[in-house]
Amino acid sequence: MKEEGGPVIDAVARLLHWFERNRRDLPWRRRRDLYAVWVSEVMLQQTRVETVIPYFRRFLKRFPSLRRLAAASLQDVLKAWEGLGYYSRARSLWSAARQVRANYRGRIPRGHEEFRALPGVGEYIAAAVLSIGGGLAVPVVDGNVLRVACRWRGFAGDIRRQATKKKVHRFLCGILPQDSPGRFNEALMELGALVCLPRNPRCPACPLRGDCFAFGHSRTGSLPRKGRRRPVPLHRVALAAIVRNGRIYIQQRPERGHLGGLWELPGGKCRAGEKPQDAVGRECREELGAELDVLAKLAEVRHAYSHFRVQLHVFMCRPRSGRIRTPRPHAWIKADELEKYPFPAANHKFMKELMDFIATTRRTAYGRRRTVLETPGKIKGSQRERRREGKVEKRS
Ligand code: SF4
Repeated sequence: MKEEGGPVIDAVARLLHWFERNRRDLPWRRRRDLYAVWVSEVMLQQTRVETVIPYFRRFLKRFPSLRRLAAASLQDVLKAWEGLGYYSRARSLWSAARQVRANYRGRIPRGHEEFRALPGVGEYIAAAVLSIGGGLAVPVVDGNVLRVACRWRGFAGDIRRQATKKKVHRFLCGILPQDSPGRFNEALMELGALVCLPRNPRCPACPLRGDCFAFGHSRTGSLPRKGRRRPVPLHRVALAAIVRNGRIYIQQRPERGHLGGLWELPGGKCRAGEKPQDAVGRECREELGAELDVLAKLAEVRHAYSHFRVQLHVFMCRPRSGRIRTPRPHAWIKADELEKYPFPAANHKFMKELMDFIATTRRTAYGRRRTVLETPGKIKGSQRERRREGKVEKRS
């Protein structure tokens, strides 16, 4: 397809004018220092503005400066981030803050190369933070910008491909106003968020419509072009809620990797053809060296991450014999202590059931604590448990 479009300088002026009149009053637009812009841009990656607003406010209240963030523990930072997802972003932000404290005496470097070298700072974050917070003349290319630019200029390449992103980047370098690069970048992103929507763009309200290729050629439905995504796999995962003496066993995930540093219940992926109730026993035997009585299913929830989905099967369990042995940091905690630990968002979907389950444990007449299911109508006990309680007759 031939790329078309008229002169763009006037369009840039119209865009900036539109932005001044229409921009949203967002909390990070009230603080223009590098630290606040940095936090907001990290939070906004892959996450909706409405979701980020309360997190941003709480985070800035808890860690109002880079020095305060660098002085905090990773656990505190993850707790403040809990529920926002993509926890590697929080870990990287925290370790970048520590590097800035160690190498730049706590002052965020304004040079592209130095800032780009910090943990978690990719091309997008560097461009957004340094242009908006530091006035550096570099264009930002995110999903909104790609959509606007491809429609406006008629770029027909697949927006998932690097070649298309580079083409848009080159085009933006040519029109970026040197005196207000941050405002220009924000304006283009804001236009994508408010007017040039993925479906049904609001072209009559758009400052670019006069020379927009897609509008002029009725191509808003077919631009930008987006190649097919690979299907997202679904993993079945079995988790053990192991309760002893009114406390539940939790463990911390390794710092590196998916959901690193967060806390979780023990368990793991089901093998092909393996039932979740079998997988939970096997996983805990392998992982913790413990034999469990798997009492009953406590919850089943689904959760989607960016590259895969999980179906979590959570089982009420009791250690049958042996001590739990694991090199990982772990803890036995009471129900009311759960909220002190950062858990992945998927776990919050069964937190209430977990708390109810812990609350149903009580001391037996033999002076030894064990799990007793007090609400069998709500939570069914295992055959063995119910047999002990005289509710099920033993089969001959
Ligand atoms: S005129 Fe329509 S398609 Fe073109 S940039 Fe504006 S909103 Fe997007």
